[in-house]
Amino acid sequence: MELNLLVTELANFLQVGKFQDYCPNGLQVEGRPQVRRIVSGVTASQALIEAAIAADADAILVHHGYFWRGEAAEVTGLKRNRLKRLLTHDLSLLAYHLPLDAHPEVGNNVQLGGVFEWPITRYLDDKNMLPMTMLPQAITLEQLGEHVSSCLGRQALLLGDPQKQVRTVAWCTGAAQSYIQQAVNAGVDVFVSGEVSEQTWHTVCETETAYISAGHHATERYGVQALGQWIAEKYGIEHIYVELDNPV
Ligand SMILES: [Zn+2]
Repeated sequence: MELNLLVTELANFLQVGKFQDYCPNGLQVEGRPQVRRIVSGVTASQALIEAAIAADADAILVHHGYFWRGEAAEVTGLKRNRLKRLLTHDLSLLAYHLPLDAHPEVGNNVQLGGVFEWPITRYLDDKNMLPMTMLPQAITLEQLGEHVSSCLGRQALLLGDPQKQVRTVAWCTGAAQSYIQQAVNAGVDVFVSGEVSEQTWHTVCETETAYISAGHHATERYGVQALGQWIAEKYGIEHIYVELDNPV
């Protein structure tokens, strides 16, 4: 498939134009004009680039690309090393940040809800970034934490009384810990995100909402895999997801 056509199709599918983001969404680095194999991963790290080169991929598909607002513009050090490998190997970089968080089919939030088997009952916000579910019955925060940990294969950090009875759960993948306030405002029992801040603890102590930090990488693994699979099925492009563990 032609790279340019793929980029256009993805822009339409993910409704890229609707988002105001901190990075460019779409083709960030242009490689060879034809795409027959894609390697996907959460972040366009050096390790992912090397995996894509080893797999003889034509393009890399990620959630976390480059050129973030406020980052140093100079092409030196780590940035130079990554770009050099991409350009030398004629390897494209396709990155989708907020459009991939919010998408109703392949988005990180919807996909993570699927992993936890939490049907979305409604959204706490008007941008569909904060889904919530109602569990069939109340369970303890500890039991919910065990479920989250076992689904992700990673020990989640629980903030709150482990014996607290919980039934309503809201979530947002990645570094969305500050959105706990919206869960507090909505009277939700638990908020789940990837990362955690010092102040998250105080919010938990001083409100009725508990918190689960389940890992930034771990909560954002699923959108890019679903998007890669969608591309493979729709356009017959080979897709390989590469999991590169990240303790955060
Ligand atoms: Zn992220």
